[in-house]
Amino acid sequence: ACEEQESASIKGPLGNVTYTPAETGTTDDTIKIGFAMGTLLEERWLKDRDLFKKAAEQLGAEVEVMSADGDDALQIWQAETLISNGIDLLVVTPHNAESTAAIVEKAHSAGIKVLSYDRLINNAEVDMYVSYDNEKVGELQAMAITSLVPKGKYVYIGGAETDNNAHLVKKGVFKVLQPLIDKEDITVVFDQWTKDWLPSNAKANIEIALDANDNQIDAVIAANDATAGAVIEVLEERGLTGKVAVTGQDADLAAAQRIVAGLQTMTVYKPINELAEKAAELAVKLAKGEDVDNNLKVNNGKVEVPSVLLTPVAVDKTNIDETIIADGFHTKEEVYQWD
Ligand code: BGC
Repeated sequence: ACEEQESASIKGPLGNVTYTPAETGTTDDTIKIGFAMGTLLEERWLKDRDLFKKAAEQLGAEVEVMSADGDDALQIWQAETLISNGIDLLVVTPHNAESTAAIVEKAHSAGIKVLSYDRLINNAEVDMYVSYDNEKVGELQAMAITSLVPKGKYVYIGGAETDNNAHLVKKGVFKVLQPLIDKEDITVVFDQWTKDWLPSNAKANIEIALDANDNQIDAVIAANDATAGAVIEVLEERGLTGKVAVTGQDADLAAAQRIVAGLQTMTVYKPINELAEKAAELAVKLAKGEDVDNNLKVNNGKVEVPSVLLTPVAVDKTNIDETIIADGFHTKEEVYQWD
């Protein structure tokens, strides 16, 4: 006879989570992966969640996903819950690069390895890191915008200071800008992080930047498409539409639409399927205790983390058809809906 499996409610410091045990039919040697996501706010994370799950399942694993909605304490507690649910491997996209180090320690003391997904956990013995080359993301943004606007006043709208990626992107941006700043071709008149990557915070920042410069700015390097969207909203309110170059990242549908409409200059496209599939393959290998290819290492302040960094692609209106659309990331009908 097979035992009825019921959902159990586990009480934690931050409320209840309902954990439904794996469906019947799975055997005990099925690899179980926990995916602790920091946020699902931007459109891309839904793709990450679904594509990672699909890729891992195709490799015979089961995946349980939890998202902390930008709450650091909740993410730690969710990771503990996944660990106590009996996972074999933990995948984490940290909301906070520093505080999630505690998760790595907890996983390791339960004999579970940790793969850092898209964002690196700092100062912890992370077992594997899979992402895009985030410094390159910043370089692509700055290269595209400086070739269009070689001189003038620049505004930098960064990502969340608590996200290691935001630092890498910024490093890439300033690597390209610095020689132009030194030549006095470019002046960076405003440079701020965007708390939690929230568009509302980016909006407040661009308003301050525009007010302080009498609306006289030439280019805005926004760290991602969500913050770029907020910037463009404010530019529209002030009648500056199309007069200020704006970058982004993620190839969000709204950004792709703004690019073909001439409102946003470019985005950086990171095909999420490549990331999800690579991470799933490595997660399953790690869970099985198999060797993983680790030629590349990234230092996270504590250890050299075996890493895989995929290559991002700069997209503007000249190559959107052969990249985002050709890949089916978005359809032509969706992107050109305003035409
Ligand atoms: C990711 C971006 C994303 C941002 C906000 C970063 O770590 O690399 O793709 O837009 O977080 O979620």
